[in-house]
Amino acid sequence: MKTIERYSLGTGDRFGRQCAAQIAAVKKAREAGIDVAIVWNKSHREHLLAGTVPADQGAAAVQAVRETGWDGPWYVDADHIGMTTVERFAPYCNFFTIDVADFIGKSAAPEAIAAFTAKHADLAAAKGIPARLDAAAIQAAAERYLHAVEETAKTYRRICELRKGDDFVTEVSMDETAIPQTPAELIVILAALADAGVPVQAIAPKYSGRFNKGVDYVGDVAAFLKEFEADVRVAKWCAEAFGLPKSLKLSIHTGSDKFSLYRGIGRIIRQEETGVHLKTAGTTWLEEIVGLAESGGDGLAMAKEIYRAAYDRFAEVVAPYVEVIDIDQKKLPSPDEVDRWDGPALVAAVRHVQTDQRFNPMMRQLFHVGFAVVASMGQRFYEAVEKHKAAVSRNVTVNLWERHIVPLFIG
Ligand SMILES: [Zn+2]
Repeated sequence: MKTIERYSLGTGDRFGRQCAAQIAAVKKAREAGIDVAIVWNKSHREHLLAGTVPADQGAAAVQAVRETGWDGPWYVDADHIGMTTVERFAPYCNFFTIDVADFIGKSAAPEAIAAFTAKHADLAAAKGIPARLDAAAIQAAAERYLHAVEETAKTYRRICELRKGDDFVTEVSMDETAIPQTPAELIVILAALADAGVPVQAIAPKYSGRFNKGVDYVGDVAAFLKEFEADVRVAKWCAEAFGLPKSLKLSIHTGSDKFSLYRGIGRIIRQEETGVHLKTAGTTWLEEIVGLAESGGDGLAMAKEIYRAAYDRFAEVVAPYVEVIDIDQKKLPSPDEVDRWDGPALVAAVRHVQTDQRFNPMMRQLFHVGFAVVASMGQRFYEAVEKHKAAVSRNVTVNLWERHIVPLFIG
C-alpha cells in the first residue's frame, strides 16, 4: 500500500494544461510550512466530455512535476471508477477512487448479511463508539451497504491484478447518491471494508446539503460541520478498531469552491489531529476562462465563444450534471449581451468573489459544466491557453492558494 499524506488536495485538470500552475499553489503551502499532496483526479465521464484519455492526464502530471522540480508527494487519481472502467486507468494512476454508489441498496446474499451481523454484534455494546448502533441498525446498514462493499473489494482486487501489486492509494466514494450516510452507517461500511481486506485510506460519503459545481455550499453550515465532525471521529475510531490504515481520512468531493465550509473543516481536522482529502476539479477550468478573459483580445473573444456555445448547447452540457447544479436560466445573460462586455466585466462575473456585485453564480455554473464545448474547438483552445499562459497560470495558482488552501489547511 502507498500511504497518503495527512493533507491532500485533488486539483483535477480538465485539459491537462495547468498542472504546473497547480503545483505552484502547493509549493506556496510548503513555503508556509504546510505539506499538501497534490492529486490529479479525473473521472471517465470527464475524459469523455473533454476528449482526453487517462494517458494524457498521466503524461501531463509527469511533465509538470519534471518542469517544476516538484519533489513533494503527487498522485494521479482514477476518479469514480468501477469494474467496467478501471482497466484503461490502471497503468497511469496510483490513486483509485472506487465508486460504488450504484450498488447501494442492492442487497447482498442473506448468508453474507447474517455472517456480518453476527460477527459485528458486539458493536452495539462497543465502548467509546462515536455513533450508537443497535442490532437492528447493524442489520439494516448491512442490508443497504454490504453489496456495495463487496463490489469495492472486487474492484480493489482487480486494481492489484492490473498494477501487479498494491502500490496505490484506495479511496471509496459513495457520494453520488441521493441519501446521505449517517455516522452509524459509516461505521458499518468501514467494518465491512476491513473485513473484505480493502485498505481504504479515504472515504467520501454523501454529506447533507447541496454541493453544486463551482459555487458555494447550499445548506445549513453548522449542521454540515456537526455531521462532518461526527464522521471524522468515526473514521478515527474505525481505523483503530478494525485495523484499517492509520492514514484513513475523509474525502470531500466538493464540486469545488465550498468556501463557507473550509474554515470549519480546517478547525475540526486540526482539533481531531487528522487529515482530509479535498477534491476539486472544475475550479481550475474556470480560472482558465478567467485568465483568457483577463487577457483581452483573442483571449477574451475565446471566453465569449465558449460561453455562447455552452449557452446554445445548454440542455446538452447540463445533462450529465443535472443533479449537481442549480441554474436559473433567467439569470443568464444572453451571449449577445456578453459579447458587448469588456474583459473586466466578464472576469468579475465568473471569478468566485461573492462580495462582488457583478459575480454571477448562474453563469459560473454554466461555464463549469460547459467544458464539453472545448472538445469541439480542438487545438484552438489549447493554443489560446498557451498564448495567454501568464494570466491563466496566475489565476489558477492564486485561486487554489488563496481561496482553497489558505482557509482550509492554514486557517
Ligand atoms: Zn465525487
